[in-house]
Parts: sequence; structure tokens; C-alpha cells
Amino acid sequence: MKIRDMLKEKETTVSFEVFPPKRDYPIESIHDTIKELKDLKPDFISVTYGAAGSTQSHTVEIASKIKNEFDIEAIAHLTCVTSTKAQIMQVLQQLRSHNIENILALRGDMPESMANNPNFMPEYHYASELIRDIHAEGDWSIGGACYPEGHIESANKLEDLKHLKRKTEQGLDFLVTQLFFDNEMFYQFQEKLDLLDIHTPVIAGIFPFVNIRQIKRIQEISGCNLPPKFMRILERYEHSPEALKEAGIAYAVDQIIDLLSSGVDGIHIYTMNRPDITKRIMKSINQVRKTLNR
Ligand code: FAD
Repeated sequence: MKIRDMLKEKETTVSFEVFPPKRDYPIESIHDTIKELKDLKPDFISVTYGAAGSTQSHTVEIASKIKNEFDIEAIAHLTCVTSTKAQIMQVLQQLRSHNIENILALRGDMPESMANNPNFMPEYHYASELIRDIHAEGDWSIGGACYPEGHIESANKLEDLKHLKRKTEQGLDFLVTQLFFDNEMFYQFQEKLDLLDIHTPVIAGIFPFVNIRQIKRIQEISGCNLPPKFMRILERYEHSPEALKEAGIAYAVDQIIDLLSSGVDGIHIYTMNRPDITKRIMKSINQVRKTLNR
């Protein structure tokens, strides 16, 4: 099923993100993760796409498993900045041959080795160019990334929103947000989208933080705001891993319940391939979720 149809049918979708196992791990290690996630009845599962070849080929394979063996709707992430058009067309053909109908179309980030190589001439510069090519190739349901706090490379939020508008005008069925820890930022972002006449459904990306290393890394990559409530938890439980994990799960549940109450289009949980954590969250929102889509 195409995600665009699912979003029309359901009041709110609840979905998960997984990533292909790192190079030294067998690909089969993800199968148990998916099996456990299936029990939680997600509307769909997305599979990330590794930078510059690392685990890219596994994305199609895992998305196909999710769709064709586990019978869960799948979205394959696809990045373009390090690819040629011919390579992108090849991945689209592979996805089609596995009945995958949904793509999260992304620019990706240029690895330093490529950025510093004067002979590397990128064929893609922005996700909007990829979206144009996917549309030209056939009938896909296409999603894109968005950043409630602005993309880290953007000079300012307004510029970023203008580019986002252009991106949605290429024909996006839905947006998935970068993780955020402050729902107020998300609500302000929704208001700005309204003002700019961007009416593409927005799925909120929720990241359950469970350790301090993750939080530091995420802050580095995304530059996301850490609100006072979050900082208090961090300062208090920084040196108590078990307590921090519990607090992280409770924080994610709190964020999700607030978003569901506000009528968000969808919740996308960045599972970090941790079904145990995702299970805890889903258990806590189960009753609230049951009241949706009645
Ligand atoms: P774009 O939409 O192209 O935007 C990138 C930057 O360029 C922004 O600052 C934007 O304002 C600016 N811009 C856009 N168009 C123009 C223009 N015409 N002129 C000038 N500036 C412009 N990365 C991976 O490698 N693999 C993944 O699987 C993956 N999954 C992700 C999933 C989600 C939900 C999110 C939010 C991010 C994901 N990323 C992934 C990270 C993403 O690739 C990076 O954040 C990347 O830096 C931007 O990708 P984008 O598609 O948002 O780019």
C-alpha cells in the first residue's frame, strides 16, 4: 500500500525506523528485530540508506523482507548526493522488482573523502532533484525529510522553509521530521508550514534516548535544542545508565501522547534496532493508540 493512501485512511499512523546492521554484523541479525517489531503492529517500517555504499545494498533486501516476508508495509530511504543518476535508476528498478512502493527521498551527506576530491562531480545537489527523477521514473509514494529546528547547514530557518516549500512542490506525499525533544518547536513549525501554504502531512520523528553517548552524538549531528526539562533529566541521571534509560523511555512516551492529543499525522519511532525499548513505549501508548483510527 502506498503511504499516501494510508495517510488519507488513518487519523494517525504509527511507524518505526530500522537501519541495516553494521558491516561486521550478519544481515540476518535484523530479522529478529523485525519479527519483534511486527508484534507491535506498526503501520509501516522504514529502512535507512547508508552513506556512500557502506550498507546501501542491504536497504533493498531488508525493505523487501519487511514487505514480502513479514507482510508489513515498507519504505526504503534513498540518498542521492554520492550517486549517479544511473545508480539511482538501478535502485528504483530493484525496489520495483521487490514490490516496494514507498521511498523516503533524501539528499544525504557527502563524506569528506568525496567532498575533498576535486575530480568528484556530483550529479545531485539536493533532494528535490532526486524527487523529480523518481517521479519521472514511475508511480511511487514519495516522502521527504524536514527539520522543525532548521537544517544544520541552513543560513536561517526561513531559507530552509523556502527550500522545503520548493521540495514539496516537486510532489511529496509526506514529510518525516528530524528528531526533536521539544514539542513546542514542532507545533511552531506546523504553524509556519500552514502560513507558507505547505499542506503535506508531517510525520513526527521521535527518538527515545537511552544513553549519554547517543545524546552527545545526536546533538553534534543535528544541533537539536535540548529543553530545560530534558537537561534536568540528563544532569540528574547522567551517571546512572539504568535510570537514564527509564527516563528516556518516559520522555518519549510523554512526547508521543502530547503529539497524538494534538492530532499529529503520524509518529515515527527511531527504534535504533532496539525492539525492547520500542515495546516499552508502545505498551505505554497502547490505550491512547486504540482510540485513534476508530
Ligand atoms: P535537502 O532537502 O536537499 O536539504 C539539504 C540542505 O540544502 C538544507 O539546508 C536545505 O535548506 C538546502 N537546500 C535545499 N534545496 C536548496 C536549493 N535549491 N538551493 C540552496 N539550498 C538548498 N541520511 C542518510 O544518509 N541515510 C538515511 O537513511 C537518512 N534518513 C533520514 C531520515 C530522516 C527522517 C531525516 C530527517 C534525515 C535523514 N538522513 C539520512 C539525513 C539527511 O540525509 C541529511 O540531513 C542531509 O543533510 C539533508 O538531506 P535532505 O534530504 O533533507 O536534503
